[in-house]
Amino acid sequence: MLGRIRELKRELNAVILAHNYQPSDVQDSADFVGDSLELSMKATEVKAKYIVFAGVDFMAEQAAVLNPDKVILLPDLGARCHMAWMLPRSLLLEYKRRYPGTPVVLYVNTLAEAKAEADYICTSANAVEVVKRIPSERVLFGPDVNLARFVESRTGKEIIAVPSNGHCYVHLSFAPEDISRLREAYPDAEVLAHPECTPEVQSMADFIGSTSKMVRRAKESEARRFIIATETGLLHRLRRECPDKEFIPAYQNAVCIYMKRITLEKVYESLKRLRYVVEVPTEIASKVAGVLRNTFELLEVS
Ligand code: SF4
Repeated sequence: MLGRIRELKRELNAVILAHNYQPSDVQDSADFVGDSLELSMKATEVKAKYIVFAGVDFMAEQAAVLNPDKVILLPDLGARCHMAWMLPRSLLLEYKRRYPGTPVVLYVNTLAEAKAEADYICTSANAVEVVKRIPSERVLFGPDVNLARFVESRTGKEIIAVPSNGHCYVHLSFAPEDISRLREAYPDAEVLAHPECTPEVQSMADFIGSTSKMVRRAKESEARRFIIATETGLLHRLRRECPDKEFIPAYQNAVCIYMKRITLEKVYESLKRLRYVVEVPTEIASKVAGVLRNTFELLEVS
């Protein structure tokens, strides 16, 4: 299967970008593996005509917005981020009416239709920096309430979570008791947690960061052993890039069923049948591109 995928990629001038939470064999078939920010950047750099996006809907939409001249393929239309769908455009507009003039920051895990109504877009890696730089003491932030609380604790600003209960069900599955038990079993291990985990789990971690920051931390830390509180797909990348260190999942079943809808066979079919093409309506795409420009200006990224 890997050989046939490689052949089709060559014929079509296509690349495969895979998220850190993808199944191991899909990660192995990819030209690049990373978090949503790294994948967005990579999508704009590659020269390919077709990009197979092994991830979920909002990531493919983001790639389509940033690359109007490339064809973005999502191998399974059912790969829809559960959290992103918690904030439809209509709900965001309701909050904007309730808090007029309050800047809106949306996490990248949001649908394009909602992003188009935001002022800034952030990732878990730069959420704190984005909010710090906004000249307002009150910010509407969505859709993840745990990331919102994390940003609030690091910036000291008033963060209004939109919606009040937005969450990633995978990151809610980590229980403080499991972390305590693993800490006792492996006292030398460092606990690395994603900011989508609950504040309680975050408070037990030695390090909180996006998946790309976790990979960097694992490489740079003196520790030889790590307890990982994020989707278990990241362990494949950690073990590949740090073969001399040990990685223990904080919870074995922390598996995103939406990410795992992408299989190697579907990647192959996607290339063979050029499906499913992800397109964002022009009006929405140009609004989202404007919001991204605002964000880059805020962060002084050229
Ligand atoms: S892990 Fe959570 S945030 Fe990521 S795609 Fe799955 S449901 Fe969405």
